[in-house]
Formats: sequence, C-alpha cells, structure tokens
Amino acid sequence: MDKFELLISPDKIASRIKEIASELDEKFQNEVPIFIGILNGSFMFMADLLRQISVDCEMDFIKLSSYHGSASSGTVRLLKDISADITGRHVVIVEDIVDSGLTIRFIKERMAEADPASLTLVSLLLKPELAKLDFPIDIVGFEISPEFVVGYGLDYDQKFRNFDGIYRLKEGSADF
Ligand code: 5GP
Repeated sequence: MDKFELLISPDKIASRIKEIASELDEKFQNEVPIFIGILNGSFMFMADLLRQISVDCEMDFIKLSSYHGSASSGTVRLLKDISADITGRHVVIVEDIVDSGLTIRFIKERMAEADPASLTLVSLLLKPELAKLDFPIDIVGFEISPEFVVGYGLDYDQKFRNFDGIYRLKEGSADF
C-alpha cells in the first residue's frame, strides 16, 4: 500500500455517486431502467451506485476483454454477454474508466443493435486527454489525468481491486 498515493478518497467517491444516482433517478422517474455493468472493473461502482438508486430498476453484467496493441488500435472480445432482452428498454451502461474509448464504443455499438429505447453511458472515471470519442459519455464521475490508476474495482494484473479508493502509483515506485 505504501507504493500508492490516494487520488480519489472513498468519501469523495461516495458523494459523487449520490449525485449520479439522483441524476439517474430524475431521468428515469417514470421508467424501469436496466443497468449493465462491465466486468470486472465496474463491480464496486455498480454495487454502490445501485444502492443509491431509488427508482425500480433491473441489472445485468457483460464481460469483455480488451487487448491494446497500441494506444490507438486494439480489439475487444466478448467473454460474457448479457442475459436480459434490452429491446425497447432504457439501458444504462456502467463502466469503471474510459481510457482510449475502445471498450465503450464496442459496448455502445453492440447495445444499439438490440434497439433499446435509450442508451445512457456512465463512467466513474474518464481520461479526457486520451479518449478520442465522437459521442459523449453522458455522466462522468471524475476526469483524471492520463496515468494508470488502481482500486475501487480497477486492477493491475488482477490485484488491488479491493482498495476502497482510487490510487495512483507513487512517484519513484518503479513497479507494483
Ligand atoms: P479503453 O477501451 O477505454 O481504452 O479502456 C477501458 C478499459 O481499460 C477499462 O475498462 C479498464 O479495464 C482498462 N483501463 C484503462 N485505463 C486504466 C487504468 O488507469 N487503470 C486500470 N486499472 N485499468 C484501466
């Protein structure tokens, strides 16, 4: 833990999640939206966000693996699809972090094929200097600089997902 520096505290995350939840409650006050979390990274955000949502809602998960050959190219593979039928439904995608934008683009295009009534993209974190998007992320928790972060669901080599805040590697710590 001493190799890490706290970037976003659990308290800050919790209060931002409350704001996001009220925005979504407002948007879907007369609907039953379906929240789709992108595994594995969004599991903690999804759990905390849904606990703050007051409207009736459903949930499901999708699992992807992304491989980045370089910053601008890469492929996304579907490892687990959603079970729910989202045609005609109000869908809320819950992502941990948008980096290049490749993953969120893949999800957006795949979900659009099923013809949902609406598609809302929510990401806890966004690296705006890196993301080359020609569509908006509807709700962003925090914009961060282009550095690698872990914790609150985000891993390095599958570890550190259990940290309760978002951490960056300390200056001078060459390795995890
Ligand atoms: P994108 O497809 O937008 O380039 O990347 C999205 C995925 O890459 C995220 O869902 C996450 O799994 C991973 N990722 C991107 N940036 C970071 C980061 O700073 N830390 C961690 N742990 N994962 C990241």
